[in-house]
Amino acid sequence: MQDRLFKNPKISVVWDTALADVIGSENPLKVKGVILRNVKTNAMSERSADGVFIAIGHTPSSELVAGQIEMKSSGYIKTAPYSTATSVPGVFAAGDVTDDVYRQAVTAAGQGCMAALEAGHFLAAHAEHRAAAE
Ligand SMILES: Cc1cc2nc3c(=O)[nH]c(=O)nc-3n(C[C@H](O)[C@H](O)[C@H](O)COP(=O)(O)OP(=O)(O)OC[C@H]3O[C@@H](n4cnc5c(N)ncnc54)[C@H](O)[C@@H]3O)c2cc1C
Repeated sequence: MQDRLFKNPKISVVWDTALADVIGSENPLKVKGVILRNVKTNAMSERSADGVFIAIGHTPSSELVAGQIEMKSSGYIKTAPYSTATSVPGVFAAGDVTDDVYRQAVTAAGQGCMAALEAGHFLAAHAEHRAAAE
């Protein structure tokens, strides 16, 4: 990925730099640029830009359930094949925390729908069990 990045003449890498602010206009609502801070010198600089995408690394944000649910060594939550069921009954996982292949909004939304339906079925089955026991 780094090699592809460095070879792309349309991309310039700004090292040792953090985003300090986004500059824009309210009417029309539009990004116009960014304020950057060099983390080594604290020097501030400005760059014009038409948009800002925040994308940092490839580590899934699954720490919320770390140690409680079975995960892959890469940190993605494990789910049953063709299902959002996790190793904990009644807990379902969908989207970028579980998908190490596609990682797209549309696949995350589809998995979210699957998780909602599976959670509904799980609750309905438990309600039937409870009713039968009473
Ligand atoms: C730069 C960029 C461009 C992209 N372009 C496209 C594209 O063109 N088309 C496309 O389909 N997909 C695109 N994607 C991917 C898409 O954004 C993701 O696949 C999608 O947002 C995943 O949805 P999600 O709900 O699983 O996770 P997210 O959208 O990441 O939502 C997870 C939420 O959980 C919150 N969260 C995390 N940890 C905790 C915690 N411990 N407690 C409480 N809340 C927590 C986060 O703050 C976040 O709001 C792009 C992604 C990036 C980064």
